Amino acid sequence: MLDAAAASECGDRAETPHLQQFAKEALVFERAYAQGPQTTLSVASFLTGRYPPSAWVDRRLRGPTVVEYLRETGYTTVAFSENPWVSESFGFERGFSEFTVGAAPSVAGFDADQTLRDAAALILEDREGPILTYVHLLPPHSPYRPPAPFRADHAPRDLPPGPQAGFMKVALGDEKPTREDYQDHATVFWGKAHLSEGDLEYLHVRYLENLAFADARVGAFLGVLDQQNALDDTLVIVTSDHGEAFGQHGHVLHSTSLYDEQIRVPLIIREPMRYRRPPQVAREVVQLVDLAPTLLRLAGLPVPDAMEGRDLLERRGPTPALSFMRGGTQAVVSGRLKLIRSEEQDLLFDLVADPEELEDLSASMSREVERLSAIAESRRAHPGEAGTAITADPEVQEQLRALGYLLDGP
Ligand SMILES: [Zn+2]
Repeated sequence: MLDAAAASECGDRAETPHLQQFAKEALVFERAYAQGPQTTLSVASFLTGRYPPSAWVDRRLRGPTVVEYLRETGYTTVAFSENPWVSESFGFERGFSEFTVGAAPSVAGFDADQTLRDAAALILEDREGPILTYVHLLPPHSPYRPPAPFRADHAPRDLPPGPQAGFMKVALGDEKPTREDYQDHATVFWGKAHLSEGDLEYLHVRYLENLAFADARVGAFLGVLDQQNALDDTLVIVTSDHGEAFGQHGHVLHSTSLYDEQIRVPLIIREPMRYRRPPQVAREVVQLVDLAPTLLRLAGLPVPDAMEGRDLLERRGPTPALSFMRGGTQAVVSGRLKLIRSEEQDLLFDLVADPEELEDLSASMSREVERLSAIAESRRAHPGEAGTAITADPEVQEQLRALGYLLDGP
C-alpha cells in the first residue's frame, strides 16, 4: 500500500518504471476507487471488506477483518506500517500476529528500506505455511522529501511570511516546522488561504519525486523476493489508500473532497505463476472494499455476508463504487457517471467526456441523479468524527503532527 498515490499521477507524469514493469504481468484495474480520501476510512474498508460507516467508527477500526479470517485458518499475518494512523492506537493491529510501526523514511532519519527488508525477510524465512504480509509505505505522502537521486537540486524558495510559507515548510519537510507552521498548514489545507500557481507547481514537482522514490522502494521489495525465487509463489497487490490534489477543485493534499484526484487509486494484482491469468487491463469500476473478499476467495475461504465488496477476479456485471467523507458527503461511481452528494448540493459528472469533473450535469440529468442518489441512500453516510478525542499515546500524536495532521483535524 502506497500512501496518497493518485492514479492519475502514476505512470504518465511520475517516473514509475517499477510499477509499470510489474503491471505488465498483472491485472491492472484502471478505475479503482478508495472508500474515502483519507487513510483511516480507506484502510479500514480494505481490511474489513465493509464501507467506512461500519468499518471506521469513533476513530477506530471495527472488525472482523480479512486478516483475522486468514489467521484463523493458519496464516502467519504480519504488518509493517510507516503511517502512524495505521497503528495500534486506532485498532489496525486486529488479526496481525506481528504489527510493526516505523517512522517513514522522510521523517527523522528512519532507515529508508528497513520496512521493506523486514517484510521481505519474513516472507522468505517462513516458507512452510501461508503468510499474509501488509506493507504500508508512507511515500508519496508528504513531507515530499525523498533522498538522492530522486530529488533534483532545487533552488531554495523564497516565500513571503504568511500561511503559505508555513504550509510549504510542513509539506516539503526541508526544515523543522514550528507549532505556528502547523497552524499555517491547517489554514491552507482547509482552504482558508490559497497557494499561488507557482507554489502548487513546485509542490507537485516534489510530490512526483517522492512518488518516483516510492516506486523504487516497491521495485526493491519485489527484487528481493525475485532474487530468492519467492516472487512467483506470491500474490502481490499494489494499491494506494487515496489520491492527492494540487489545486484541482480548490484543494491541496487529501481528505477534503471526493473528486477523482483524491479517491481514484492504482490497483494492480499479480497472481502466483502457477495460476496466473494473462495480463489484462480492466476498465470497469472497482473499489478497495473488494480486496478482502478477493483475498478470501483466493485462499479458498467463504466470503462472509457482512462483507460489502465482491471478488474482483470473478466479476459478474458492473457494480457501483462508493466513497465517503466525514460530514456525510458521499460519491457514487457507476459506469461513466459519478454523483457527489453533500448536504449542500448534488453534483453529477460524466467521467468519460469530462474526466476532470468540471461540468456539473445534475440539472439536465435529474433521473440519473435520482438513480445514483438511491444507491448512496442504500448505505449509511459516514457520520464524521467531530468531538471524538484521539487517545493515541503522545509519541503517535507527535508523529501525526509531523505529517501535518492537527489532532482536531482529519
Ligand atoms: Zn493515506
